[in-house]
Amino acid sequence: MNHLVPPDQIVPRNGRGPGERILIVDDEPRLRLSMRQLLARPGLEINEAGTVAAARLALQAQATDLVLLDIGLPDVSGLDMLRWISRHQPDTEVIIVSGDARIDSAIGALRHGAAEFVRKPDELHALSAKVDGALERRRLHRENQAMTNQLAESERLHRFLVDNSPDIVYALDENGHITFVNPRVESLLGFTREELAGQPFSMLVHELDRHQARQIMAGPPDEGQGPSNLEFRFLRKPDGAGNPAPPHAVMMVTAIGIYADGPDGAAGPGRQLLGSYGVARDITERKRAEEMITFQALHDQLTGLPNRRLFKDHLELALAQGSRRGERVGVMFIDLDRFKLVNDTYGHHEGDALLKSFAQRVRGCVRAGDTVARQGGDEFTVLLPDLNQAEDAAIIARKIFAELQRPFHVGGREFIATASIGIAVYPQDGESADLLLRNADIAMYDVKSSGKNGTRQFNADMTTGHLPRLELERDLREAGPNGEFVLHFQPQFSMSRGQMIGAECLIRWQHPVHGLLVPGSFIDLAEETGLIGTISDWVIEQACQQLATWHRAGHAGLRVAVNLSPREFGRADLVERVAGSVARHGLPRDAFEIEITENVLLQDVPGVIDKLRQLRERGIRISIDDFGTRYSSLNYLRRFPINSIKIDQTFVRDIVGGERVSPIIHAIVGIARGFDMQLVAEGVETELQRQVLADLGCDEMQGFLFARPSPAIGVVPMLPSRHAMQLAT
Ligand code: C2E
Ligand code: MG
Ligand code: MG
Repeated sequence: MNHLVPPDQIVPRNGRGPGERILIVDDEPRLRLSMRQLLARPGLEINEAGTVAAARLALQAQATDLVLLDIGLPDVSGLDMLRWISRHQPDTEVIIVSGDARIDSAIGALRHGAAEFVRKPDELHALSAKVDGALERRRLHRENQAMTNQLAESERLHRFLVDNSPDIVYALDENGHITFVNPRVESLLGFTREELAGQPFSMLVHELDRHQARQIMAGPPDEGQGPSNLEFRFLRKPDGAGNPAPPHAVMMVTAIGIYADGPDGAAGPGRQLLGSYGVARDITERKRAEEMITFQALHDQLTGLPNRRLFKDHLELALAQGSRRGERVGVMFIDLDRFKLVNDTYGHHEGDALLKSFAQRVRGCVRAGDTVARQGGDEFTVLLPDLNQAEDAAIIARKIFAELQRPFHVGGREFIATASIGIAVYPQDGESADLLLRNADIAMYDVKSSGKNGTRQFNADMTTGHLPRLELERDLREAGPNGEFVLHFQPQFSMSRGQMIGAECLIRWQHPVHGLLVPGSFIDLAEETGLIGTISDWVIEQACQQLATWHRAGHAGLRVAVNLSPREFGRADLVERVAGSVARHGLPRDAFEIEITENVLLQDVPGVIDKLRQLRERGIRISIDDFGTRYSSLNYLRRFPINSIKIDQTFVRDIVGGERVSPIIHAIVGIARGFDMQLVAEGVETELQRQVLADLGCDEMQGFLFARPSPAIGVVPMLPSRHAMQLAT
């Protein structure tokens, strides 16, 4: 655009400008010719007119820089023509070329706007210089005009930009008072420009940021130093109707100072501030978004509680303070018991609702300065800074348990949730955040593995049996591919026949570092991580293979039992996985048994009954493990196709010398008889127990008294045809 081009590029500085044009007006053709010859040069267009009428037409047709005008013209007086030119073509210079030698004629001409007066013919020699002078003046005039236009244009542009800027643009005097502010301030902050004129800029800034704002306004950096960028909160004007002022706006202020030059012209301290200007950009939305993102990064979406990252931050802070002040810091690891069951049975929606209300109740049990966080899944942590004594953590735990006495509502029913809580206290149970979390986790797992629903503080003995969960999870994923699972067999015996009739398959994990692990330390984790499916497939396959081997070796009457976790019943292909494997190995009906717990029967999972029936139809035996420990309802026993029940070890353990046999055992024996199911007693350790159970009519038994679980090779001596046991008395 033209106005942005420096004026010296519009008109060349030296020499004639392009397209300069003069008009010679004289009635004498000879004189016109001699003048043309006198003036002719490249770049100069010379036109002629013999009359005023012709001259006017020429001037109207083309912009002309200079007219050489004779006064004594035939049609109209030259002076009239001069008047006409100054009215209609004010930008055209005129030099009067006249034969009239009188001074007043020259004065008249000059007065009417002519630039020069040349007498003909004697002064014609000076004409060329005068024409040059006049054209030069025209050029300067044109340049000047262009520059003025350009300034006006640029002024308009800048005003437009400032007035329509999305930012507040302001200028301040040396005292920080507003000398200019653009209209944007009105829509952003609600103050009119008139209200703000002459006011200190800092009055717009929130009280808490005002001091810093004043400091900056008193000495903003100059252009050479680059602008300062600072965030301030800005006040918005209340609406005057008594409503509270709208929340402040957060603005990024970019300020530049204007300084008088120092003594040697150099910038430096102590220079006199003349004023400043700057821009304030509304970043409220961006700030809000940033805060939101930060919140989301540090909080759990479901419960709104801090997440594990924020928890760790808080914990580290608390530990730093604790060590300075010599205070204790408590860390609690809480795991909601049986949460997986709720999720599997009622769906994620109900599971989420339970987690939310649980989180709320835990939050209600602690003080404002304590942090409750969700670690993920059904795991929560609580940070208790400045504990007076280690036992105080247990008090909080008791409060949480008291809260859990009230039922939750899950799937339209009342649900009593229980939790396992592990506690670790700084400094005795660990000095770093990681160690405390890990030890609280270990303590929690200790509670879990001894029946859940309780609380325990960490002690060093716990570390031997319990491995850090994350490590364990990682290793567990590798265990299958690495061939680290081992299947042990624990024989079951018939008292009446005096021989081994089958074996329960019990999985073991030969961990490369921690040695042989029992299922209690990894089955829960396998269920939670979904690894249980592939583990079961492996167990079923191994069990079938082993039994087929025994059958081929002539022990045809033997059966095996494998344990299936309740989760397996959520899978549509369960029947095919079990029955298919059994069929592939050519095992006869009733040689393969699955052990399930009562939970399975109580699940709402669709098709549990169907699946059990189909399994039964395909010759799989179904046995209820740990019978008597969960629910007393006998209804389901009628509805499901069950072959046998296993009396739980806890009842067997209760059989000790000199005491009456628990009525529960009597009841279970009665139930088995009533429903025509086989009865197996497990965990038989003493001769007394065997005797009592046999007397009660329980024929099949399993327990350390007869054999511990062992690899298949260990079972060989007990196989029926080789070794008829002398058990029956
Ligand atoms: P369970 O099915 O009730 O298995 C019996 C448990 O009692 C076994 O523990 C066995 O070693 C132990 N036991 C046997 N006789 C005696 C005795 O006389 N005294 C005592 N004190 N204990 C005895 P184990 O092998 O640690 O298995 C624990 C549980 O892990 C099993 O309980 C079963 O529910 C589960 N489990 C084992 N293998 C598998 C598997 O392959 N898949 C699944 N889903 N669960 C399994
Ligand atoms: Mg079992
Ligand atoms: Mg059992």
